[in-house]
Amino acid sequence: AADLARAESLIATIPDFPEPGILFRDISPLLADAAGLRTVAEAMVAPFAGTFDVVAGVEARGFLLAGALAVASGTGLAPIRKAGKLPRPAGSVDYALEYGTATIEMSDDLAPGTRVLLVDDVLATGGTLRAGQQLLEQLGYALAGTAVLMELAELGGRDVCGPVHSVFTV
Ligand code: IMP
Repeated sequence: AADLARAESLIATIPDFPEPGILFRDISPLLADAAGLRTVAEAMVAPFAGTFDVVAGVEARGFLLAGALAVASGTGLAPIRKAGKLPRPAGSVDYALEYGTATIEMSDDLAPGTRVLLVDDVLATGGTLRAGQQLLEQLGYALAGTAVLMELAELGGRDVCGPVHSVFTV
């Protein structure tokens, strides 16, 4: 618990980024801290031990965690990318952003039924993780769980993307 409290204290809160009125949570100082990174990587996967084969991180900050989580749990890693980045996209989901829309894509390198733990850094409105869940379903993978480092509870993302394991809730 002391380790987790220390790790949380390393997340910076930046007012008015990327736009006025937005309070941005910056996990970079936490990622740069060896003990902090290990602590949160273990905490993100702990509830799902033994239930997944691959960690899928959502571009871009989800990637930073996914690699650490995969090594911490002895599993593989798969990227969920913004449209146009993958050479062989096999699935695609469009979703709404505050302004406009976005598209994420994934390849079909994994065997059908592969158990996937879906991860990202921050859960805000939930649109991104909901889209990630739909993408995994579209490709025939099994969702083992959804985990984030930090949940911004007042935005209600949990209502959009269902049960989510969050290490920190603000
Ligand atoms: P959502 O789709 O509204 O849940 O937004 C989640 C996505 O936006 C995630 O991919 C996050 O990386 C990013 N995001 C939203 N708010 C923050 C923040 O305060 N810090 C870092 N990333 C954020």
